[in-house]
Amino acid sequence: MAEAEKVRQYLACWFQLGKKVIVPRLNLEILPKRIFQGKDYSPEFEAVWQLITDEKNGDCYLEGTNHTIRDLLSPRWEVIDCARCDMPVPVVETGVQESSCVCGDMENWPNNELPPPRMPVDDKEILRKISQSLQQPPDLD
Ligand SMILES: [Zn+2]
Repeated sequence: MAEAEKVRQYLACWFQLGKKVIVPRLNLEILPKRIFQGKDYSPEFEAVWQLITDEKNGDCYLEGTNHTIRDLLSPRWEVIDCARCDMPVPVVETGVQESSCVCGDMENWPNNELPPPRMPVDDKEILRKISQSLQQPPDLD
């Protein structure tokens, strides 16, 4: 099953490329302007997440896809990296790849000239890794 955290990362990545989440029952298309706050998701992102995981709001989709967010949270689905652009994409867990990728309708994607979408950054963890790599002896290859 796709863990909630993976589905959140999936949404966060695609939000950064301008994909909206669509809530037909409320006639809403939502794209949070701010996705992260430091190493956490922003309150805006959290509000969207609450809204789209609330059953009374019905099915919600990421723009250009036909599986619901609830599908992704069900045991049948898994979130993996897209073969075309390395972005997170959902697949049915039995190994059957969906015919269309989320990026399928994006003509200017993958785009190596743009910085890739990022995950929330834990500054302390990065600093720890940097100081770790500085302490490692150089490769002698
Ligand atoms: Zn892709």
